[in-house]
Amino acid sequence: MQIKEQLLSLKPYQPGKPIEEVKKEFNLTKVVKLASNENPYGCSKKAKQAILDELDQLAIYPDGYSALLRTQVAKHVGVNEDELLFGNGSDEVVQIICRALLSPQKNTVMATPTFPQYKHNAVIEGAEIREVPLVDGDHNLDEMLTKIDENTTVLWVCTPNNPTGTYVKKQELLDFLSKVPKHVLVVVDEAYYEYVVAEDYPQTVPLLKDYPNLMILRTFSKAYGLAALRVGYGIANADLIRKIEPAREPFNTSRVAQAAAIAALEDPAFVSECSDKNKQGLQQFYQFCEDLKLEFYSSEGNFILIDFKRDSDEVFNALLKKGYIVRSGNALGFPTHLRITVGTEEQNAEIIEILKEFVLE
Ligand SMILES: *Cc1c(COP(=O)(O)O)cnc(C)c1O
Repeated sequence: MQIKEQLLSLKPYQPGKPIEEVKKEFNLTKVVKLASNENPYGCSKKAKQAILDELDQLAIYPDGYSALLRTQVAKHVGVNEDELLFGNGSDEVVQIICRALLSPQKNTVMATPTFPQYKHNAVIEGAEIREVPLVDGDHNLDEMLTKIDENTTVLWVCTPNNPTGTYVKKQELLDFLSKVPKHVLVVVDEAYYEYVVAEDYPQTVPLLKDYPNLMILRTFSKAYGLAALRVGYGIANADLIRKIEPAREPFNTSRVAQAAAIAALEDPAFVSECSDKNKQGLQQFYQFCEDLKLEFYSSEGNFILIDFKRDSDEVFNALLKKGYIVRSGNALGFPTHLRITVGTEEQNAEIIEILKEFVLE
């Protein structure tokens, strides 16, 4: 069999340990997963009802254009309907962008460490990857500019950045966009948009009219709590969307997912409540880090990256034994850190207690 050569260097996605497996292995009755930045409060009741209401339609293909969802998202975001591209999660939008713009003659610029799917998909397309190290957890936009040449087709800005939780400030992004050559698509991944509270976090949608080479990514997986259903979307000018649409599968978002996402948009109170609680949860972790003099990155997402100054797998395993699954920094390019998803107040307090014991012992 002649597998594409670039696939040989890739590993399949390594999901965190499943809850059931951890229960068995450590003989636990309660296991909490704070590893994938999922919403600890679930999703809106309205979304659940919308899913039930859809069950008689499962024999029928979904609307491949997501017309109803499209209308609602367009209103919600404040753009025209033809300025949206829906994906089976924003993961799939990343894949579509790579299919449409990358090939072995092209290169793509991104930060490191950042969300791994940009690189993963670019490698599959055979493109050259140009990675620019973060500085104090932040994107080094000036350095990223210097990596652009005539063969650069896509540049990725993840803000808030996964796994650091840091964000690109408004003025920085404006300066940067004004300097990026027009042949380069700038993808601004705002997966954690609903959680952001920083006042100088840029509102990027109004920038679309000045920057035809800008694309914004959002998702229903994080603050909306619909990760299982896989709905994300890209926002960009209509001409660009039309050109990359052929790289999208015809029925890529399911009927159930579209219905749930529409209903989720009708319950903004749920999202803002989750965002408020997340802010309080981050404070619990900040306090813990300050008490124990641990370094961390201030986060605008629903997760926090903390430096334990020792092999992250050690801390990861100590938590696992007590029934808390987090993300070891070893897999994230931060070998002495853990990335912990902010849970409920009680979950945060419990995990902090375990961490305190571990660090102080
Ligand atoms: C979680 C995440 C996504 C993927 O979200 P889906 O819509 O579930 O595919 C995209 N980008 C970043 C930065 C993320 O953390």
